[in-house]
Amino acid sequence: MVISHLNLDRILRKTVPVIVFLLLVYGSFLYSYYICWNEIYHHHSKSTGIGLIIGNILFILLIYFIWLQMFLVGPGFQPHVPIYKFYEDYRDDYESIPPPDYFICTQDGYPIYCTMCQSIKIDRSRHSGDFGKCIGRFDHFCYWIGTVIGKQNYRLFMQFLIWFQLYFVYSIVTTSVFIKDIYRRRNNSLHPQIIVLYILLAFWLVIVFALFVSHVYYLWINITSIEEIKIKQHRRDKTPDPQAFINFKHKGERYVLRYSSLKDHIWNRGLHENWIQVMGKSVFFWFVPWRGPINDPHSGDLKEQDYYVIVGDYFEEISDKFKQHFIERIERKDYESKFTMGCSDVGSSDV
Ligand SMILES: [Zn+2]
Repeated sequence: MVISHLNLDRILRKTVPVIVFLLLVYGSFLYSYYICWNEIYHHHSKSTGIGLIIGNILFILLIYFIWLQMFLVGPGFQPHVPIYKFYEDYRDDYESIPPPDYFICTQDGYPIYCTMCQSIKIDRSRHSGDFGKCIGRFDHFCYWIGTVIGKQNYRLFMQFLIWFQLYFVYSIVTTSVFIKDIYRRRNNSLHPQIIVLYILLAFWLVIVFALFVSHVYYLWINITSIEEIKIKQHRRDKTPDPQAFINFKHKGERYVLRYSSLKDHIWNRGLHENWIQVMGKSVFFWFVPWRGPINDPHSGDLKEQDYYVIVGDYFEEISDKFKQHFIERIERKDYESKFTMGCSDVGSSDV
């Protein structure tokens, strides 16, 4: 039977997290039983053996707790954003709001619209087929974890990677402390399960560490995994520089400017701002894995007709450097076009 790419994808999305879950249970059992109980408790120190088992259980419970939260908190669904009212005499039989000072647009300067959500997409938002909704600062679908990572659960995702690594380091270090004695006492041999445990720990530590380092890099320059994948694809295929467009307001007029989504990291606002955008302002919650950084994920219900109020924490701000860069380009007339409405209705595009 031939399994199509789509079916394989569906199967992997459901099975990989279950395998990871079971491997974690299995590895935890190997560590607790073969190292802590059989060796340390019986041949070294009872209190150390019990203490390490408790430490192991607490680590596992914390990891599952963060994992569960990533599902419960969710990736963060962007609020509903009505169409933009570009002129005062704009027909008002549609719900419309004044446009923000800048937004990512089509080549013609129109906002990106999601026909499924019937809403304008906030910058960096992306429609998720899994949830049937647009997700703010969509990062990626994580096969290991089994859910979408977005603006709301990205902090939990980073904390998950950190605690996962700490757990592996804890297991490897405590096992290594006793491994020489175990080896000698067993006449220069090791139980096969202990070797399996070592391989599992080393394998997972390398995988999680590599994932963590990539995400620290993404956070550093403020790109999402999806953006990074697109950049890599273009480099690999050697296709022309992918162009993107921004509708930018300057001195009461609006302009459409072209930029490179490959080279111009317009969202990169410096490490400090990038960090706060993902991890939130509270230092306490940088370390404590509890909920996401967005205070009111349902701000779409707000009545105030102001873009910035409606989108709240989902607002994506471009860097001061690029704001200045766009202004300079407008002043030297280096723009795609001056934005004017071509018809009485707001055009839309689902990109
Ligand atoms: Zn959508």
